[in-house]
Amino acid sequence: MKAKMFLLGTLGALCALVSCQSNTHNRMEQPRGVEQAAALWTAQDGSQQDFEQLVSDYYCTTDSARQALYESLSRIFENVFQSADILTVELLRPTQLTNAAEPQVPDWIMSGYSPLAHFSDDLFANKLAFITIINFPHYSLEEKNTLGRHWSRQEWAYARMGDVFTTRVPAEVKTRMAQVLAEAENYIADYNIYMGNLRTEDERQLWPQETVLLSHWNLRDELKAQYGKEDGQEKQEMIYQVMQRIVNQTIPQSAINSDAVLWQPYSNQLIAKSQEQIANNPEPYTRYARILDIAHAYFAEDPYCPTAPTGIIRNFEEGVEIPAAELDSLFRALVGSEQVAAVASVIRERLGRDLRPYDIWYDGFKARASLNEDELTAQTRKLYPDADAFAADMPRLLTRMGFAADEAKAIASHIAVEPARGSGHAWPSLGRQEDARLRTRIPATGMDYKGYNIAVHEFGHCVEQILDLYFIDHYMLSGVPNTAYTEASAFLWQHRDLQLLPNSSIINHQSSMSGDEVLDQFWSMYEIMGVSLVDMGMWQWIYAHPKATPKELCEATQQIAKEVWNRYYEPVLGEHDCILLAIYSHMVNAPMYLPNYPLGHIVQYQLEEHLAQCKTQAEFANEYARIYRLGRLTPKEWMIQAVGHAPSIDPILNAVKRTLQK
Ligand SMILES: [Zn+2]
Repeated sequence: MKAKMFLLGTLGALCALVSCQSNTHNRMEQPRGVEQAAALWTAQDGSQQDFEQLVSDYYCTTDSARQALYESLSRIFENVFQSADILTVELLRPTQLTNAAEPQVPDWIMSGYSPLAHFSDDLFANKLAFITIINFPHYSLEEKNTLGRHWSRQEWAYARMGDVFTTRVPAEVKTRMAQVLAEAENYIADYNIYMGNLRTEDERQLWPQETVLLSHWNLRDELKAQYGKEDGQEKQEMIYQVMQRIVNQTIPQSAINSDAVLWQPYSNQLIAKSQEQIANNPEPYTRYARILDIAHAYFAEDPYCPTAPTGIIRNFEEGVEIPAAELDSLFRALVGSEQVAAVASVIRERLGRDLRPYDIWYDGFKARASLNEDELTAQTRKLYPDADAFAADMPRLLTRMGFAADEAKAIASHIAVEPARGSGHAWPSLGRQEDARLRTRIPATGMDYKGYNIAVHEFGHCVEQILDLYFIDHYMLSGVPNTAYTEASAFLWQHRDLQLLPNSSIINHQSSMSGDEVLDQFWSMYEIMGVSLVDMGMWQWIYAHPKATPKELCEATQQIAKEVWNRYYEPVLGEHDCILLAIYSHMVNAPMYLPNYPLGHIVQYQLEEHLAQCKTQAEFANEYARIYRLGRLTPKEWMIQAVGHAPSIDPILNAVKRTLQK
């Protein structure tokens, strides 16, 4: 870049403003980008005079200069992000895909390598970050939601450019965060319960010896699988007991991830398997120590993040882009709604007994009762013997959804289908020379129905990724407001999977969900919103008590879980002071991530309700594409431009009401 390209008048005045920051009047007049850059400038970057020189050299005072700078930076970012992504994809190929070389030790080591780890440091060092900040200031979420109402697309793109360099966290501080997250991940990944070693109080064994379940996911799924089974409730009660001991840390250390002892979870007694003496020591609050390690890593980052000085603000206002308080009241409105008691009484009737706390995981709303899975699997296996067959069929899926043939071809041409080692996922492209990647697991016998259902979900992610990258006006606006918004697209497709099969007689955009599906989703939102409230409450408490010990955090978390429970769950599920809502493992290894799940369903319902008004399938596809080309506005502004109003729980509450009236 030519050094003096943006040198323009009025610079003397600007420099004077920069150097007298204590003068309130002058500070008000100082361009906000200059003020923000000054807050991130350190002695290592140069003297005060150097900073003033930088501002004088590179601050754009005309719109055309600013636009030229924007376009140049946008091109640079797309190239850097895309190239780094292509490198990452290549390095991960052996560990992620089955059509690649068998992974060797170097592949595993490089699978954790991030080409962009030093990007921010490098651009502060060569001053391009400062040039970006002085010309494209950062706007707070509040400002984006209010001022943004009147912004042009270009002004939105400028505002997104102002989000690129808002923090300057030193590499060693970032490394510490990565380390503690990895430790939390390992702690969770090894937290298995040997179910064959559990004993009732009269020393009966309920599970086969080889059953080993990971907390909390496998424990929860096992609990769900017991509905309708003869001895199911005894097992459910036992799992519930184990979960409580994990939350309150009375679980014996030797019962975690170990085959060494037999354990009676009710009395909390251990029985030796051999002659050896056994010590019954409870887990020493390790669960909460891991969370506090993450908290301390956040505290260390805080001073380097002037626009978002706490981990909570960074996660919600800069990540999710919905303030924690707003999510909190959205969730409380649903878990406190009158629909809860009504759905609970349907469940009570179907179970033929009073409800228990673990019935937050009631699994009896058979979403697709009429489904003959074997027949469907026969069909999908024939259709999709391998990844190439699915790729070849993508234009048909899109036209079936209502897209015109040429649009369908254009979208599908940017999606690559690859055979995954693990379960399926979608890998977004970060630039317009790269395909979005749909990863799916296809056995040698062909794609079974479950695999097809997941592949359609991932396809819904990919279509969104192509619409808001290749078919959008500004690269800086590519993407969606947050995770929940891409999940909504994936759900939208996934729910139409049967209609997308070639011999399906109907495609009806207005009725993608059955009554039981609506109740099922409502009940799982009720569950996960309570869990999210506990997660958010715990982080508020941590920031209010930065010196807390693991034991204190354990007690506080239980207290928060009890408060949420007693208010919103005890009235329908019973049991005063229940701590079950604190069992989720994400609380340990994915700080503040849980609220994304219910948010995805909220967004999905709003879109479904809006799209149901379309009169034809083609209109449906057009409207879906218009919405997903809005790009990375804030969640609130996106939703207003998509369906006419802010994120709301009314559509799901209305759907439940309609279902119950039938
Ligand atoms: Zn998804």
